[in-house]
Parts: sequence; C-alpha cells; structure tokens
Amino acid sequence: MDQPHVIIFPFPLQGHVNSMLKLAELLCLSGIHVTYLVSASIHGRLLTHTNVQPRFNHYPGFSFQTLPDGLYEGSLHNPDGIIQMYESLKAIAKPFLIDLIVSDRLSSDARRPVTCIIADGILSLAIEVGEKTGIPVIFFRTVSACSFWAYFCIPELIDAGELPFNGDNMDEGIANVKGMEGFLRRRDLPSFCRVSNLESDDFKIVLTETRRTPRAQALILNTFEDLEGSILSHIRSVCPKLYTIGPLHGQLKTSLARKTTSSSTSSNSLWEEDRSCIRWLDEQPMKSVLYVSFGSIAVVTRDQLLEFWHGLVNSGKRFLWVMRPDSVAGKDGEHHIPAELEEGTKERGYMVGWAPQEEVLAHPSIGGFLTHTGWNSTLESILAGVPMICWPYFADQQVNSRFVGEVWNLGVDMKDTCDRVIVETMINDLMEVRRDEFKKSADEMSKLAKRAVSEGGSSSCNLDRLIEDIRLMNG
Ligand code: UDP
Repeated sequence: MDQPHVIIFPFPLQGHVNSMLKLAELLCLSGIHVTYLVSASIHGRLLTHTNVQPRFNHYPGFSFQTLPDGLYEGSLHNPDGIIQMYESLKAIAKPFLIDLIVSDRLSSDARRPVTCIIADGILSLAIEVGEKTGIPVIFFRTVSACSFWAYFCIPELIDAGELPFNGDNMDEGIANVKGMEGFLRRRDLPSFCRVSNLESDDFKIVLTETRRTPRAQALILNTFEDLEGSILSHIRSVCPKLYTIGPLHGQLKTSLARKTTSSSTSSNSLWEEDRSCIRWLDEQPMKSVLYVSFGSIAVVTRDQLLEFWHGLVNSGKRFLWVMRPDSVAGKDGEHHIPAELEEGTKERGYMVGWAPQEEVLAHPSIGGFLTHTGWNSTLESILAGVPMICWPYFADQQVNSRFVGEVWNLGVDMKDTCDRVIVETMINDLMEVRRDEFKKSADEMSKLAKRAVSEGGSSSCNLDRLIEDIRLMNG
C-alpha cells in the first residue's frame, strides 16, 4: 500500500508506446504501482498483437486505463494523422485526467492515490493537469538528446535569421544550435524546420511543446551519457533535473535478468510480428544480410520503393525488408506493393509486413541496417552493434542521421536522395568497402551502451535515482 503510484501517459504512436511501456515495466520491477494510460484507438491492437497483457499480469501493481481519444485506427500511423491526434488528445485528455485523479478512481485498498505523472514530453497538457491536482509531473521525451536540443534552439535560430529558409542552399551551415556548430546543416534540422511559413501547425506544436519542457519537475531521456554527453550538458542548462536511462530495451533486459529468471524482453508491437524471418535469417551466412525498415509511420512512394529495390538487388547483397501494408503511398485504397518487386525479391531477399525488430538486429546474420533513423530503431541498432545506412523520413530523424554519419561514425547518411545507384554504392560501402571501420565503431558504441545499463553504469544509476525520487513524491 505504501508504494508510489505513477500514471504513465504516452502519445499513441508505436515508438512512444513501446519505450514508455518499457519504462513502466522497469518501474513495476522495482515495486512501484503503475497505471498506463492507453488511447482507445490502439488499446485493442496492443492487446491483440503482443503478449503485453500476460506479461504485465505478473505485476499486481500494474493496470491499463483506456483513454477515450475520439480517434479511429485508420487515422493513426501516418504523418498527416499526427496533428489530428494531437489536437484530439489535447481536448479530451486534460479533463479526463483531472477527473481521474480528483475522483480518486484509480486507488484501492492495495493502491495509493496517484503520486506522480510521467507524461510524454509532447503532451504538455500534463503540466496543467499537475497544476490543477497538485501531482508532480515528469516528462519523458522519446527522441534523442541531439534532436530535442535542436528543437529547443529553434527560437534562437529564428532570432538569428537562420529560420525560416525556403528549402534553398540546404548544405549551408547552422550556427545557433550550441554544441552542433561546424557540422549541422540546414538539411540536418528537424524536418518541421523545412517550412517557409513559421505559422504551420506542426512547426508551432513542436516548438511550443518543447519550450514547455522546463516547466516539468524533471526530464527523462532514452539515451546514455557516453553517446550524447556533450549535448546533454547543454540540455542540463535548461532542465537541470535530467535522467538519462537508455537504451531502455537494454536496461529492461538487464533488470529482468537480475530480478527474475527471464532476460528475454517481449516487443510491444501494434502490428502482428512475422517470425518466419528469423528462420530465414538462421539460414544466411554471418553478417551477410542488410535489414531494411522505415519504422511505423514512414510512407514511401512507388518510385522511391523501386529505387530502393533496384539498389538492393544490384548490390548483390542479401536483404530482409519490412514492408508494412500501409507503407506505400497510393491513391485511396491503392496502397500496394508492386508485384514485380515481391516476385524479384525471392532470390536473395525476404519480405515481411512487420518483424520482431530487436531480435532481428541481434541476429548474427545481420550485417547492416537501412533505417529511417527513428530513435528507437537507432538505439536498437547501436545496442546490437549494427552499422547503419540512414534514410531519414521526418521529424527528429534528420538530426539523428547526421549524428550517426558525422559524429558517431556508425554508418552513412543518405538523406534527401533516393537513387538506385546511390543506394547500391552505400550498401557496398557499409557491407564491404568500409565494413571494418564501421564495425569497429559500432562494436565500441555497443559496448558503451551495454556498460551504461549494467550494474553501476550511468543509465542504471540514473534509473535508481529516478525511482528514489519518485518514492519521495507524495502526490
Ligand atoms: N519495429 C518493429 N518491427 C518492425 C519495424 C519496427 O518491432 O518491423 C519497432 C522498432 O523495433 C522500434 C519501433 O517499432 O522500436 C519504431 O520506432 P522508431 O522510433 O524507430 O520509429 P517510428 O516508428 O516512431 O518512426
């Protein structure tokens, strides 16, 4: 009964739900009670395609609370749906949460009233909920420190006249993101900055939500000190109470191994995982396969798809390609994968609609990852020691890919091009010509990531500190 009781409130997108469920499980492992607020539009999918429910049944202090979000499934997981989702949550979630807390519906004989809210950092409505109810609020931002900091510096870029730009001179350097002078170019800024009109909805939302971050009691980031230490020191100048506890999937694996008999984490997928690809990978030579996935939101055109496919086939390398059924742009009702592509893939490739990605990246047959550099995918690749070819799609991914290519030397950045010859060249660079160089830095970074989440490592100590601080909060 005297355990703290935390509400965890993620934005209802795969990358957010996934990492915040991992945080929920880590808190549960330490005995903290958790209510996980999940949007009605994805709740069913989360329970259908995963073993989330049986897994969390082991934690008596855990429960789901459905948030009636006014959204329908089809509106999710596409870039245009995100603004609609945000507006809908903003309108519905604030009164809902206040009522949930004030009416004390979440407490019982075995559970205290809510003592803390951990909200997605792009849901700053939680600040007002905290003010109304007196409950402390911590933000969890699911993106990298480098992209968070780039978002945060946008007002300085506007003041200095570096924004807006009209999509011209994309290689021009950016001078006003502290800590990134010298290598950040216009094309590496978050995609929302590629606007001529600073009044656009997505630009304003990201800017406002990010600038409100310091109003929370603390900030949690899914990263580790050895990876982003220099940028983290800039963030600490505005958010002094900062917990870096990543990579969360590594942290969870280590904690499960320490506290239970299991070390295998399960995924939190909103799509059904096709595990046949693991059997296919088992039959391939070591480090011979390029894994291709653009995450849960990216949509490619038919032309882009064909450029990737020709590049892949011409490279002569084996590949495992995730192609979500809704990931190819077409007229309404015409989202489909060209037949010649499925047919022509059979020789050296394998295609699935959704893969068990963490397991795929850890498979010995994988030698490279062609990725959109979503932050979860990037961290999963880093922990597994897999070099990357980056094809950022939107949002934070443009910044992440610059760091992968230019700062961490973990691969190559292909942003803003989609041409079969370049695809082929980059695959050969990654898997052959510069293979040893990239493998060496990927192995080194993987070791640092594993050290961060092991006992006494920076992320592990920061998680302990977070748990202690949550215990000191009385709601
Ligand atoms: N993912 C997966 N199977 C797939 C593709 C992606 O399990 O076939 C997972 C991946 O492991 C990651 C998440 O989906 O945890 C995608 O999050 P990320 O931040 O990389 O990108 P987003 O989907 O938000 O663009």
